[in-house]
Amino acid sequence: MTDEWLQIGNYSVFPWSISGVETCVVIKTNGPTLTFDLGYSCRSSVSSNLVFFSHGHMDHISGIAQHAAKRSLYGMKPAKYYSPVHLVEPLTSLCKMYGSIAGNIPELEKMNIIPAPVGEVINLPSGLKIKPFPTTHRCPSQGYMMYHNVKNLKEEFVGKPSQEIAQLVKSGVQIHDEYDVPELAYTGDTTFDVFTNPPTEDLFRVKLLITEATYIDQEPGKDQIQKARDRGHMHLQEIADNADMFKNVENILLIHFSDKYSTKYIQETVKKTLPDSIVNKVHIATIAKEIYG
Ligand SMILES: [Zn+2]
Ligand SMILES: [Zn+2]
Repeated sequence: MTDEWLQIGNYSVFPWSISGVETCVVIKTNGPTLTFDLGYSCRSSVSSNLVFFSHGHMDHISGIAQHAAKRSLYGMKPAKYYSPVHLVEPLTSLCKMYGSIAGNIPELEKMNIIPAPVGEVINLPSGLKIKPFPTTHRCPSQGYMMYHNVKNLKEEFVGKPSQEIAQLVKSGVQIHDEYDVPELAYTGDTTFDVFTNPPTEDLFRVKLLITEATYIDQEPGKDQIQKARDRGHMHLQEIADNADMFKNVENILLIHFSDKYSTKYIQETVKKTLPDSIVNKVHIATIAKEIYG
C-alpha cells in the first residue's frame, strides 16, 4: 500500500488524522521532512527525523515508541522529538517502559526528547525555523509556526564585484538584509480562540495553515459551536463565520474530523458551509478514513 500525499502549494503533505483515533501529519519541505504528532507512526512518518508534539492526548502521542522502533528496524539514526516541556519526562518514561518490555531496542532507553517551550526558536536545516505557540484545548497544548529565514544582499551592495563583497564580509560588515517568512502553521487540537486571540499575526500570513475542524455538522436545536468549544475543539462553522480572517493565508488544510462523518459527508459539508472566498483554498484530510473504510 503506498501512502497518498497531497500536493498543497510547495508542500507534499501526508495528513493521517481522525479525531480521537490517530493524528500524524507529515510534511515534505524544501529541506527536512517534518512530522507533527504521532498518534500512529504511519509509514510516511518513519523516514522523518524531526517530530513535534502538540499535546499529550493518546491520539497524538501513542506512536512515539513505534516510530523509534521502526527507525531502528530500518537502520535509521534516532529522530529528534520536540515536545511541550511538561511531556518530556512522561514520554521518556513511556518509551523506557516499551524498551524494557521489548528487551532489545536500546534506542527506546535513550530517546532524544527535547523540550520545546512556547516562544523559543528551534533552528532546522535549510534556513527553516520552528516556533511553538500556545493553543487552547482540554489539556495543555501548543502549535508550531514554521518560518523560512531569507537573506538578501543589501541594495547598496548589489552589483559590486565579488572581491569587494568578500572584503566587506571579512571586515565584519553586515551585507545581508535578513528576515523570517511565515511559511506554515500547525495548530494541533484547539478551540477557535487561537484565531480570535492569536499568539502571533503570522498565523494569518502563512502559506499553509493546518488546523482542526473536529465538528462540522448542524443538529437542529443544538448549539454545535458551543459543544465544540466545551470539548476543546473547533467547529467548521467558526471558520466559515470568520472566513475574512484567512484572506491572506494561501492554503488551509483541515484535519481531525470526528470519526462519525464519512468522507463524502465531509466533502459535501465543507463545500456547502464555507463561503466562496475561501472554499477553493481549503483541503481536507480524509486519507486515514478512506484507508480504514
Ligand atoms: Zn486529538
Ligand atoms: Zn486532544
